Amino acid sequence: MKQTLTLALSKGRILKDTLPLLAAADIHPLEDISSSRKLIFDTNHDHIKLIVIRATDVPTYVEYGAADMGIAGKDVLMEHGAQEMYEPVDLEIARCRLMTAGIVGAPAVKGRRLKVATKFVNITKAYYAEQGIQADVIKLYGAMELAPLMGLADKIVDIVDTGNTLRANGLQPEDMIADISSRLVVGKASMKMKYRMIEPILEKLNAAVAARRGEAA
Ligand code: AMP
Repeated sequence: MKQTLTLALSKGRILKDTLPLLAAADIHPLEDISSSRKLIFDTNHDHIKLIVIRATDVPTYVEYGAADMGIAGKDVLMEHGAQEMYEPVDLEIARCRLMTAGIVGAPAVKGRRLKVATKFVNITKAYYAEQGIQADVIKLYGAMELAPLMGLADKIVDIVDTGNTLRANGLQPEDMIADISSRLVVGKASMKMKYRMIEPILEKLNAAVAARRGEAA
């Protein structure tokens, strides 16, 4: 039986930028992913399938070998831990920064632990521990900007692109935690077992990223 190769794509913001890169790697879904409710898509290659899932689920599928490869933001990969996978290509799409932010002009917190709201609990704990700052990290699932305004937290850790969302809510970006972009990940077992199928895709994706960079320069 012919081996298949499954690539897990992140729904949402990243998807729109992912499809042209896949096309450059000669991987074309047989139907329009953006307008379909399906979760599994055939491609122009009999043996290559795409699945479209939440970004935060991509490392889980790849880690367990349920998908051979995946595309997800560095923020998601850092938060997950992403240990059972390689990260061979920085796709240089969906670029943004992971930053701390707080209320403009708020006095520094003294004499008590800092309260930080975020959906990136693991990254945030590691970051403040590294800084030697005692912080209580509060998990939220959305609208992090609201937390300081409502007194739930002193700071937030969130994705910043233009900074407009922060500014619109009276917050300012403060410390940079990491530069973020989407990465191609490959499960360690898949890389070993399916290298002959994976290697040409990596090559084409690298070339497509380099070509895009050339256009942008
Ligand atoms: P902005 O107002 O341009 O700073 O955008 C900030 C909001 O957009 C954040 O709260 C994120 O939820 C979202 N966002 C922007 N860029 C990205 C990205 N590359 N990946 C995921 N979320 C993003």
